[in-house]
Amino acid sequence: MSATDFSTLSLSSEQLDTLKTLNYEQMTPVQAQSLPAMLAGQDVIAQAQTGSGKTAAFALALLAKLDVTSFDIQSLVLCPTRELAEQVAEEIRRLARSQPNIKVLTLCGGAPAKVQTLSLQHGAHIIVGTPGRVLDHLTNQRVDFSNLQTLVLDEADRMLDMGFQDELDKIIEATPETRQTLLFSATFPAQIASMTKALMKEPEHVVVEETSIEAHIEQVFYQLNGGSREDAVIQLLLERQPKNAILFCNTKRETHALFTMLNNYGFSVQALHGDLEQKDREQTLLQFNNQSVRILVATDVAARGLDIKALDMVINVSLAHDTDTHVHRVGRTGRAGESGVAITLLTPADDYKFALLQDTMQTPVEPQKLPEASSEDHVPLQSEMSTIQIMGGKKDKLRPGDIVGALTKSDAIDFDSVGKITVQARASYVAIKKDKAKQAVSLLMNDKLKGRRFKARLL
Ligand code: AMP
Repeated sequence: MSATDFSTLSLSSEQLDTLKTLNYEQMTPVQAQSLPAMLAGQDVIAQAQTGSGKTAAFALALLAKLDVTSFDIQSLVLCPTRELAEQVAEEIRRLARSQPNIKVLTLCGGAPAKVQTLSLQHGAHIIVGTPGRVLDHLTNQRVDFSNLQTLVLDEADRMLDMGFQDELDKIIEATPETRQTLLFSATFPAQIASMTKALMKEPEHVVVEETSIEAHIEQVFYQLNGGSREDAVIQLLLERQPKNAILFCNTKRETHALFTMLNNYGFSVQALHGDLEQKDREQTLLQFNNQSVRILVATDVAARGLDIKALDMVINVSLAHDTDTHVHRVGRTGRAGESGVAITLLTPADDYKFALLQDTMQTPVEPQKLPEASSEDHVPLQSEMSTIQIMGGKKDKLRPGDIVGALTKSDAIDFDSVGKITVQARASYVAIKKDKAKQAVSLLMNDKLKGRRFKARLL
């Protein structure tokens, strides 16, 4: 047994079994460093990035002491964005599989408060939410945090950046002093330091060394002398053929221009920027996560809080304006032990920003000249999957098994052709091998699911 085995922790055997079924074999560094203190009930400050496994760390801690027979709200997790809150809630639910009847409720802006109020009347053990909406429910006395045991501030630096200090103060005031406070933050500016002093009791401070991320990320900097960024991106994508990649741009306009160019060239690509409607954003992300789309061109704001497993490549089409953002972008590849490559394109105008970045690197990297384009003929890598949207979801009692069943009932589609299935409240999405997609849509349209016919279409 190694020191990073989950079985070294005081977790129930059911919880250990759940971890096994999720293929969480070893603790990630942030888990190994923070879980012993958190499970012992101590306050913990953890400096860790998205992708480090931080969510599972605090989720395991709060689940370990949850009493399902009590109807009190026992844990509150505050997150900067709705997307992150939803991912956190998902991860908590996944890890709570061995504890039946635990209710996890998300309270975020952008969703109707009325529906949330109704759900609250049925009680919840764990609330995951964004500060504005949680405070709204608190002010209207729809939530009671007086028996709260665990308070988690996730991505605390981002919450402060987004101006949530007042909301946080008011929410925290409504929680008992006896609570355990866990604070996660990628960076540790002065504002966070003073906040932790006021909020936390003798906290254990855990810093996950950047090297644990950098160790399996190859960082390459290419100096562009003359050639365009777009040409460099196309050359890199064609020659390296990443299975999936996020290309970061600094502006919406740049994002749109690069997306259009790659799309015309025949890449499997989508753009993600702040102008998209929430619904379109979610569908784009879903298609990227279920492997129907290989490349995302994104701004930082749009990509915040994305939960993407095993990303092959990040390209910083333009160097980020600050070092934190750069580290955040780069940290998206090589997640949970996978290897990844992060390529940054530089022009002479980036010299100053790049010098600042180099100062913060443990082993400074020298920029290289972009190699000559190879004379071999490469074609853009196509995705193997397509996504079908089915106009029915949890509210219609649909489950992933119903969809797989309908698709594989006849011999036309085999089990291996069906990819990730996501069932949302009113719609479901299924990834399917491209050559089976049309057939799958007609099977779904003509068959009954849970005794009803649902519309289905290819996205
Ligand atoms: P996070 O930093 O919380 O966003 O987690 C990054 C990803 O790593 C999530 O998709 C988790 O499901 C996954 N993960 C967390 N802990 C482990 C672990 N011990 N082993 C493997 N994967 C993990």
